[in-house]
Amino acid sequence: MLYVSTRGEAPPLGFSDALLAGLARDGGLYLPTLWPQLAKDKIAGFAGKPFAEVATTVMAPFTGDDLPRPALDELLAATYRGFRHKAVAPLVQIDDNLFILELFHGPTLAFKDVAMQWLGRVMDHELRRRGRRATIIGATSGDTGAAAIEAFADLPQVDVFILYPRGRVSDVQRRQMTTPQAANVHAIAVEGTFDDCQAIIKGLFGHHEFADRHGLAGVNSINWARIMAQVTYYFTSAVALGAPHRPVSFSVPTGNFGDVLAGYIAKRMGLAVARLLVATNANDIMARTLATGHHDVRGVVATQSPSMDIQISSNFERLLFEANGRDSAALRGQMAALAQGGAYALTPRQLAAIRADFDGGSADEAATSAEIARTWRASGYVLDPHTAVAVKVAREGLARDPATPMVALATAHPAKFPEAVKAGCGQEPALPDYLADLASRPERQQVLPPDLAAVERFIAAHVRS
Ligand SMILES: *Cc1c(COP(=O)(O)O)cnc(C)c1O
Repeated sequence: MLYVSTRGEAPPLGFSDALLAGLARDGGLYLPTLWPQLAKDKIAGFAGKPFAEVATTVMAPFTGDDLPRPALDELLAATYRGFRHKAVAPLVQIDDNLFILELFHGPTLAFKDVAMQWLGRVMDHELRRRGRRATIIGATSGDTGAAAIEAFADLPQVDVFILYPRGRVSDVQRRQMTTPQAANVHAIAVEGTFDDCQAIIKGLFGHHEFADRHGLAGVNSINWARIMAQVTYYFTSAVALGAPHRPVSFSVPTGNFGDVLAGYIAKRMGLAVARLLVATNANDIMARTLATGHHDVRGVVATQSPSMDIQISSNFERLLFEANGRDSAALRGQMAALAQGGAYALTPRQLAAIRADFDGGSADEAATSAEIARTWRASGYVLDPHTAVAVKVAREGLARDPATPMVALATAHPAKFPEAVKAGCGQEPALPDYLADLASRPERQQVLPPDLAAVERFIAAHVRS
């Protein structure tokens, strides 16, 4: 399988080169040259199969010859062995035709583990094969940093440095980053904001001599290998609810647009998906784009669902490219307008193609709390605030089409956001047993000023190579 850049000015790469590159050299995102097709009987055969086995079938066409099948089998078996629920991504019914897909049974209680646990293993595998090392760097406002630290801890070929704004992540999120004791992972508390952290990351990548010397690599969801690992649970959940014989809809709490894009890819591969609902919080740029055909960036507001507090949904670029007949030149124009003026218009063709598959919806702070309360009262199920946004939008979708099963993706465990949950339904959600002692584990973190040179010195002193 070959991968092309959405911007059309970088050479096509095989899977493992796209994996290690992350972003394409022309600033674009990688997509496979074609969508592999899964026949109806093959999809029907997923029923009752272990998650890792379905993942192998879904992902093998994307890795192609770059990863021999036994290696893929082994990496995926190891990836999902670490999940605390046997089904990996179980379904729970909370109302008529309304189901929750629990994606938070990985080590850091957020859905990012589903893809990050795979990314860590496949990167380590590939680096080892090439006799290379890499230094993973990232800025986080919470979930991504913890997921990356868990995924890359103790892997021999990589060192990990995660920057987060000191005092601006939740207690649980900070402890998940500072309590792992592996020598190759480093949580850096920057005395500044998330934007300061991101500026430092940009500065590190922009300092080419430093970046090359330490083999810097990123792990955010522009990396294709993460997106492809999220396709699997659309298949497993839809099949459990009657696909391929009856279509299923999904409501997806959306930030960077990676998760909902994976649902679109499942549809392109042959899964019977009726509607994909892009559920946003008060930062509703994606819902507005779907409604108006106009994409315009406003300021980010802080909400109780912080992992969706975003204005630039990077992965939307992949959908824009698909929806316009893969016209790179037109896309480059839109991305230049976004960079310069913070806005662009979708072409009529893009808007029509996107509306054929997607609906938008949003929940503001009051609606999010009301949904946590409503679902708790009606079914005794405790939603985290991200999932509550999806459930609220899912109910709107069900009102339009009550006959089609609706799956709301649960992207975080409620115990990760205890204040919002308690405010919503009065219940203090408990951490699962394996994290019950999180508050008493020793923490290890480095506090640094918001200064590129200071971070460079720290990295240079701590990389193992
Ligand atoms: C990252 C994240 C999201 C948003 O997912 P995207 O793929 O960025 O759209 C939603 N909920 C939680 C809990 C997350 O960590």
